[in-house]
Amino acid sequence: MTAYRPLIAGNWKMHGVEASLGEVRAMVAAVEGRPPASRVAICPPATLIDRLAAQVKGTLIEVGGQDCRAEAQGAYTGDIAAEMLADAGATLVILGHSERRAGYGEGDALIAAKAVAALRAGLEPIVCVGESLAEREAGQTLSVITGQTRGSLPEDLAGHAFAVAYEPVWAIGTGLTPTLEQIAEAHAAIRATLVEGFGEHGRRIPILYGGSVKPSNAAEILRTAEVGGALVGGASLKASDFTAIFEAL
Ligand code: PEP
Repeated sequence: MTAYRPLIAGNWKMHGVEASLGEVRAMVAAVEGRPPASRVAICPPATLIDRLAAQVKGTLIEVGGQDCRAEAQGAYTGDIAAEMLADAGATLVILGHSERRAGYGEGDALIAAKAVAALRAGLEPIVCVGESLAEREAGQTLSVITGQTRGSLPEDLAGHAFAVAYEPVWAIGTGLTPTLEQIAEAHAAIRATLVEGFGEHGRRIPILYGGSVKPSNAAEILRTAEVGGALVGGASLKASDFTAIFEAL
């Protein structure tokens, strides 16, 4: 058993406009009808954070950003500071998602700097790690994810609330998932790395699983050893799917 409250976070990616708030209304009704065993968060596009935060205010649903810049302000056209996410109503932020690592060349050191920025703004970082298919096939899964965990989590996180999300790149948006044994093996390696870096605190950090989580596989994944919640992409967009996932615990 884990000592912390699991976290189920929805990553809406670049999906969602005003009309999507209807789904959020249904999610709010679900948590009010039956309080979930986990924390529940939605990470919408930045344009929706303030509207969504207003909508879920006073409910059990939390709101997060999907990325932030390390600097607090400056001439960085198109970027968003952690302070801006917090100002808009976010309390968490996803960092180092594989779509940013691969698509924007984000490396561990930059992600660690963003984690420091998140703390500075009072946000709880959810730091993503995960191997590509080529790395798994080359037998490098554990060295890749432990290396990313060490490199992306700055010492500054000691004593603060944060989460790690294990997201095998090949499982994201593909409908493929690792076996439960593979998930348990990866999570055990991340746990050992967290304990090595943060001592006792490292035992209490939730390690979320992410990659094609859906209503039909959520219960077995969420009951796997060292799985402290889920980071959910596609299935978090529809209230019926997302609700079924957080009600699976
Ligand atoms: C994600 O992008 O973080 C993710 C897990 O996506 P999906 O659930 O759609 O695979």
